[in-house]
Amino acid sequence: MKHLLTIAGSDCSGGAGIQADLKTFSALGTYGMSVITAITAQNTQGVDAVVEIDKSMVQAQIDAIFKDIVVDAVKIGMVSNSEIIKQIRYSLEMWQVPFVVVDPVMVSKSGHHLLQPEAKDALIRELLPIATIVTPNIPEAEVILNRQIVTVDDMEAAARDIYELGPKSILVKGGHLEGDAIDVFYDGTTINRISSPRIHKNNTHGTGCTLSSAIASYLALGYDLTPAISKSKDYVTKAIDSGLEIGKGVGPLHHFH
Ligand code: PLP
Repeated sequence: MKHLLTIAGSDCSGGAGIQADLKTFSALGTYGMSVITAITAQNTQGVDAVVEIDKSMVQAQIDAIFKDIVVDAVKIGMVSNSEIIKQIRYSLEMWQVPFVVVDPVMVSKSGHHLLQPEAKDALIRELLPIATIVTPNIPEAEVILNRQIVTVDDMEAAARDIYELGPKSILVKGGHLEGDAIDVFYDGTTINRISSPRIHKNNTHGTGCTLSSAIASYLALGYDLTPAISKSKDYVTKAIDSGLEIGKGVGPLHHFH
C-alpha cells in the first residue's frame, strides 16, 4: 500500500481541500494522511470563514508523520500565507519525498481568496522548484505570470514560462476556455495537448483538488507522468459526471471505489 500525504486546507462540507484529497487517495487504493494548513468554514455556496494554522503546528504535523511513516508522494494544495509556505519548503527539504504535486490554489470557484496576496511570490519561489508537477488552471497561470491567457497557444507559452520557474513539469488546465477542455503538459522537452470532451455538469466543487491528488496517487503507484495525468483525468471526468446534488450551490464530485 502506498502512503499519500496532502498538505492543504480543510473544507468542512467535504467537497474540496483535504477531504477531497483523502477521498481520492482511498478511491485509488492508497493510504491517505493530511497536514492541515487552514480550516475553512464553507459549503456548496461559498466560503464563510478561514482560520490559518500556525506554522509551528504545520511543522509539527509534518514531522510527526515523516519521523514515523514512509511517505510515497505529497500533494500540496491551499497554503494560505508565506510563513506556512516557507515552513513547508523547509520541512520537505529535511524529509525527502519522491514526488511532490503542487496545486497552486488561489481563489475558490465562489470567489474567496484562499492564498493571501502577499504569499504569491513565496509560492512561486519556494514551492514551484520542489514540484514534480505543478497544476495551475488558467486564472492561476495568469497570476503566476502576470499576463492574460486566451488561447491554447497562450497556454503553451505559459507552460514553457512556468517551467522556467523550476518545476520538473507543468499541467496548465484549460477548463476556463470555451469549447473542449484542453490541458497543456510540458516537461522541458515535449509539449502535449490533452483534449477531453467538456462535461456540462453543475457539481464540480473540488475538481482541481481531486485531479492533483489523483496525479500524486498514480505517481506513487509507479506510473510515469503522462499516464498518471491521463488516468487522473479519466478519474475526475467520471467523478464530475456523477457529481452529487448535495446542498443548494455547486455540489461535490462522486469518488468511486
Ligand atoms: N476550499 C479549499 C480548502 C480548497 O483547497 C479548494 C481547492 O482548490 C477550494 C476550496 C476550492 O474549491 P473549488 O474552487 O473547486 O470550489
